[in-house]
Amino acid sequence: GQKTVLVTGCSSGIGLKIAVRLAKDPQRRYQVIATMRDLRKKGSLEEAAGDCMGSTLMVAQLDVCSDESVTRCLTAIPHCRVDVVVNNAGVGQIGPIESLTIDDMKKVFETNFFGTVRVIKAVLPDMKRKRSGHIVVISSVMGLQGVMFNDVYAASKFAIEGFCESLAVQLLQFNIFVSMVEPGPVNTGFEVKLMEEVSWSDFPGTDTETLRCFKETYLPAAREIFATIGQSPETVAKVTADLISMERPDFRRQTNPLYTPLTALKYADKTGNLSVRTLYNLMFRHRMLFRLSLGFLKCLTCSCFHGRISPT
Ligand code: NAD
Repeated sequence: GQKTVLVTGCSSGIGLKIAVRLAKDPQRRYQVIATMRDLRKKGSLEEAAGDCMGSTLMVAQLDVCSDESVTRCLTAIPHCRVDVVVNNAGVGQIGPIESLTIDDMKKVFETNFFGTVRVIKAVLPDMKRKRSGHIVVISSVMGLQGVMFNDVYAASKFAIEGFCESLAVQLLQFNIFVSMVEPGPVNTGFEVKLMEEVSWSDFPGTDTETLRCFKETYLPAAREIFATIGQSPETVAKVTADLISMERPDFRRQTNPLYTPLTALKYADKTGNLSVRTLYNLMFRHRMLFRLSLGFLKCLTCSCFHGRISPT
């Protein structure tokens, strides 16, 4: 029969694409419950879903930061049945930690960590009773490798990685699978929102050298990275849909093979110095090399697109 898939954060970006892709599955394997915090933002989803609206896709309200909202959403589903849950809702944060309050930082954890934990906790009892289920988390390569000025965001993704690694072992006993999708940069509103946020900030409490580092080194590098190796949300949705269709889904999947060498550095050298110093050198000492390697990666991406070489 059809599987019920609940996706969080579907008003935009990756969540929207995942919901629509699953709803349009040619074999009609899924009933999608596309959830979002604010139903007034359902326009783009409805437009993208087209004919699927009301047949294989329905929209529901769910704020991952509210117990009440999660409970209300789940009790409205027939038999509270969720076969697959895709935890996609998330927020970013960039900037020197000196300029961020502890409350600003807690908000990132409230959504990316506790929000995901809240939804998993809510669907778990039923999955355990049925002895089947699939928990998917849209993590990030920043859940594997820190990136400067993304300190708290990376920490929130590391946190959810640790949570899922621990839980995945217990859940195999119940025939429940956990999968982490780890995208590199993805061209959605995510990065745009972050860039806007920092354009308003006056960075209270930050020394000029740090601020220069953020504005003159980090921001231009981040823009270049998104412009060169950034993926489309459709690509991430395809990887996620492929995982969902597996009988025994893999635990983790990076979506961007061009980013993998960076995450591999820390495993290649157990002192950890290789990854920290390579990232430092690329950012601060060899900007030309950084640009060249991005240029090279861009060519590689184009070649992959045209099917000349396969990245895997
Ligand atoms: P996005 O901003 O378009 O999507 C995030 C969605 O989460 C938004 O629709 C937002 O409204 C929703 N959301 C935020 N707080 C919520 C809450 N409390 N309850 C319910 N929904 C909430 O950006 P995106 O790129 O599509 O991000 C989706 C996921 O992908 C996030 O978890 C993000 O961390 C992850 N990710 C993004 C990138 C990237 O470069 N864009 C890279 C790696 C991982």
